[in-house]
Amino acid sequence: MRKLLMHTCCAPCFVYIENELKEKGLMNYNGTYETVDYTAYFYNPNIHPKVEYERRKNAFIEFCKLKEVKNVVKDEYDLNYFVKNVVEQVGENKKFQLRCEYCYYIRLKKVFEYAKENDFDIVSTTLTISPYQNHDVIKKIGEKLQSEYGIEFRYVDYTSHFREGQKMARELSIYMQKYCGCIFSMDAGKWVY
Ligand code: SF4
Repeated sequence: MRKLLMHTCCAPCFVYIENELKEKGLMNYNGTYETVDYTAYFYNPNIHPKVEYERRKNAFIEFCKLKEVKNVVKDEYDLNYFVKNVVEQVGENKKFQLRCEYCYYIRLKKVFEYAKENDFDIVSTTLTISPYQNHDVIKKIGEKLQSEYGIEFRYVDYTSHFREGQKMARELSIYMQKYCGCIFSMDAGKWVY
């Protein structure tokens, strides 16, 4: 059985996906399913403020414990580094055109590094259950890292299950946030990218 490392942005986005992985497996591009040995990986170093980061991290740990999911927490928090790099690297004629593009890149790069060191076959992310995320950019970044690390990136569009996943999370009384995560999305007080 192949090993999947699933980047998990937060527990609520993982609930539906975890259930599907357990019940059916990982969806292939032709719509069939592959049974995989999956591990969830938490690495989201730019959630603001720190207390919110701790809440989301703890919700992830509790959910994995409840569902007996193998998991890894990369417990690194660095708001300053993120903000400094958004200023320096994001904008016209810079390495990244969008703040979220840079954000996806730093998170997924860390996941690929871990996957490489620990012999995983596939990397994916729960970000793609959210209709608020930029799927084209996530796919582009994932494919770039796939070539760099020689590990498959699997893009699955889970958005049609977003509401169902939120309902499942509420039923389990999982902590649910009101904004994406970084200081910019928090400042706007709504889901903005
Ligand atoms: S809005 Fe979300 S995806 Fe975009 S930079 Fe902020 S935390 Fe990252």
